[in-house]
Amino acid sequence: MKIYNTLTRTKDEFVTNVPGKLSMYTCGPTVYHYAHIGNLRSYIMEDVLEKYFRFSGYNVTRVMNITDVGHLTSDGDTGDDKMLKGAKREHKTVMEIAKFYTDAFFDDCKKLNIKRPDVVEPATGCIDEFIKVISSLIEKGFAYEAGGNIYFDTSKLKQYYVFNDFKEEDLAVGVREGVEEDSNKKNKADFVLWFTKSKFEDQELKWDSPWGIGYPGWHIECSCISMKNLGEYLDIHCGGIDNAFPHHTNEIAQSEAYLGHKWCNYWFHVHHLNTNSGKMSKSAGEFLTVSLLEEKGYDPLVYRFFCLLSHYRKSLVFSYENLDNAAVSFNKLIAKTASAIKDDSGEIDTAAYDKLMESFKAALDNDLNTALAITALYDVLRENTNGRTKKALIAEFDKVLSLDIIAKAEKLNAAENTTDEIPAEIAELVEQRKAARKEKNFALADELRDKITSMGYIVEETRQGTKITKQN
Ligand code: AMP
Ligand code: ZN
Repeated sequence: MKIYNTLTRTKDEFVTNVPGKLSMYTCGPTVYHYAHIGNLRSYIMEDVLEKYFRFSGYNVTRVMNITDVGHLTSDGDTGDDKMLKGAKREHKTVMEIAKFYTDAFFDDCKKLNIKRPDVVEPATGCIDEFIKVISSLIEKGFAYEAGGNIYFDTSKLKQYYVFNDFKEEDLAVGVREGVEEDSNKKNKADFVLWFTKSKFEDQELKWDSPWGIGYPGWHIECSCISMKNLGEYLDIHCGGIDNAFPHHTNEIAQSEAYLGHKWCNYWFHVHHLNTNSGKMSKSAGEFLTVSLLEEKGYDPLVYRFFCLLSHYRKSLVFSYENLDNAAVSFNKLIAKTASAIKDDSGEIDTAAYDKLMESFKAALDNDLNTALAITALYDVLRENTNGRTKKALIAEFDKVLSLDIIAKAEKLNAAENTTDEIPAEIAELVEQRKAARKEKNFALADELRDKITSMGYIVEETRQGTKITKQN
């Protein structure tokens, strides 16, 4: 498999440190609010990567942190504390906010068929680990105390700016408003490992440390949580492109200074989901969440499909029009699969199976080209072979794509057999309701639902589509 490596800026052959075993680290969410669908684009593409590694035979261990302390509103170490901001907004404690939004994040992941990583570790559970590594960095001369905080000294490194040659506009997304210069720093690029002089007087979460009561910086979390669970040699590290600098650059700096050798071999970065007006945001414009898409009548897996249609290294524009187009294609894909597998008797046609499997693998082996993998799926449906072979191939592909294709197609086939029981009059009202929802005329949709209910039928939106049942 070849994968684009941000470290070398080329598509590299993927080779793990230990044959057959693969260690994978993912920057987890900052749990101060719901994830927007842009955040989830990164997690969907990383999920495909993880599943394709497993599909290719690797024994994968994937670790993710949960940032419940230390992430300020700039990706450096300036601005407000995101968690504190969230707690104030909702009149709750930081830990209540963290618990609520961690659960919400995994609920969204479930709806999008994103597998939970093998290890999920909140930063607040690893304070001893941070103190151990920071103490060692001070001892080795890579960190210093100034104005009550502990800083990493970037001038002590042979090379610091590993990931800083991105286009300005890519990096600008990660840099937020209100950045003020910290006069304690010896060098502009130095960053905080441990805060004791908090500018937030009401900072709730603080721990004792050799340097006084305080809390960790954001970057140290990921280095420590990764090294704690995956050891000194990491195969691949993932995140959204805005994490490349300064977050990942700082992770490399502190991890390699601590270890005294190279830490991670491959860096996988997913480019941004944008709106027509630019950056996706939790505070400005429509806050696009999975729940919002569901409220508007979209199956979350349509969003997953929409993401898979584009390469992860290209920025992607979200609009309802684009999502509607994806929904139409997705429904057609399910309908075609349903008719292809209706008769799945007979033997596997091994020649066709091997050829089609090869083209699926070739697509993903080439820097995770999911769009071409979907094309390979259409090729299966077009192939002149039996339903058994098609079903077997699609089921295998879906171990990576996770679109529930076979289950949805079978449901469609089963529903077709029972449609006779739904009177035409009801079916017509259901169609009218679907059209109303699509036009976002929710008042009319509700009115039609009430009418259907009054006629003795229940209409519901489920993950598999519209479900109609007769009331008892
Ligand atoms: P955060 O919760 O802000 O720490 O971000 C969680 C993940 O989402 C990180 O990997 C970010 O790099 C990624 N991310 C943030 N914004 C976007 C976006 N618009 N599109 C894709 N990924 C994003
Ligand atoms: Zn991280």
